[in-house]
Amino acid sequence: MLKKKNRLSGQAYIDGVLNGDRMVLSRAITLVESTLATDQQLAEEVMEGILPYTGKSIRIGITGVPGVGKSTFIERFGKMLIDQGHKLAVLAVDPSSPASGGSILGDKTRMEVLSSDKRAYIRPSPAGTTLGGVSARTREAMLLCEASGYDVILIETVGVGQSETAVKGMTDFFLLLMLAGAGDELQGIKKGIIEMCDALVINKADGENLEAAKRARREYANALHLFASKENGWYPQVKICSGLSGQGLDDIWQMIQGFMEKMKLNGFFEINRSTQRSNWMHEHIQYLLENKFYSDPKIKRELSQILEKVKSGDVSPIIKAKELVGMFLQDQ
Ligand code: GDP
Repeated sequence: MLKKKNRLSGQAYIDGVLNGDRMVLSRAITLVESTLATDQQLAEEVMEGILPYTGKSIRIGITGVPGVGKSTFIERFGKMLIDQGHKLAVLAVDPSSPASGGSILGDKTRMEVLSSDKRAYIRPSPAGTTLGGVSARTREAMLLCEASGYDVILIETVGVGQSETAVKGMTDFFLLLMLAGAGDELQGIKKGIIEMCDALVINKADGENLEAAKRARREYANALHLFASKENGWYPQVKICSGLSGQGLDDIWQMIQGFMEKMKLNGFFEINRSTQRSNWMHEHIQYLLENKFYSDPKIKRELSQILEKVKSGDVSPIIKAKELVGMFLQDQ
């Protein structure tokens, strides 16, 4: 049973977040992650209050298979940014993380430098069973960080599944980290993910790996030409870097800034953000409806009774689905 924690007033959360109070920011994120109905109401009030102060950061998605060097990259890249005067927030979308707290950012020692620096804020992935739930909460955490003055947001995810689409759907720039010398399939990277990235970065381009990385850069650059150019007029770039030594990171930051400038000039920055907002609403409608449907006691009872028959093929899944939805709507 979840114990209800001491909550602040809506206005206290809003003021604390806007004043850059890290403790209140953390508590506000915990509040939006809560599934308690009373918390949700308060969370909505807080989100509404901070909304006018959001939107001003550069939102960057970073993906790549485990071991590609994401946390090392983020640590070094993030340190470079805060040394340049930025305030950095690092969030994660990791729907597979068990509720026990294990998550890609759960182990803070992965980013020792950033996690002990006041100019950076690191938040592990929220626990959750559905990707929709996890990504909705990450979006809200992102907005809270923006309202709190963080002007660069990095959102990390593991490059093996659906979560890339979710992260792509909430960021301005999507960066894929890869390794040289292993085929895409070996790295578990789906073609769709390569197509959705704005930059493909071959990491660990250092020591004996450097030559292989340069070769891979040429190969990928050629391959990317085969993809249709993007509607926003951006050609995905191929870069090499070493998250360990820091080599190439400045070049990547300049590329991202160049991208932002270009998108703001040609209008695609705002088009992308407004499409994301509208998609977010639709996703949330879906989430609310599904939640209400599956938590309805009558539906729960009915489902438990007919599920076996549907599984064994005795009744039509389509007809049963229609009956259940009809039954649900009747009671509304
Ligand atoms: P993640 O699972 O994607 O977050 O990967 P990590 O950042 O934990 O790195 C996995 C391993 O690769 C660690 O042993 C790192 O020390 C090593 N590594 C990360 N970045 C680099 C790099 O740029 N060059 C080299 N040579 N090794 C790296």
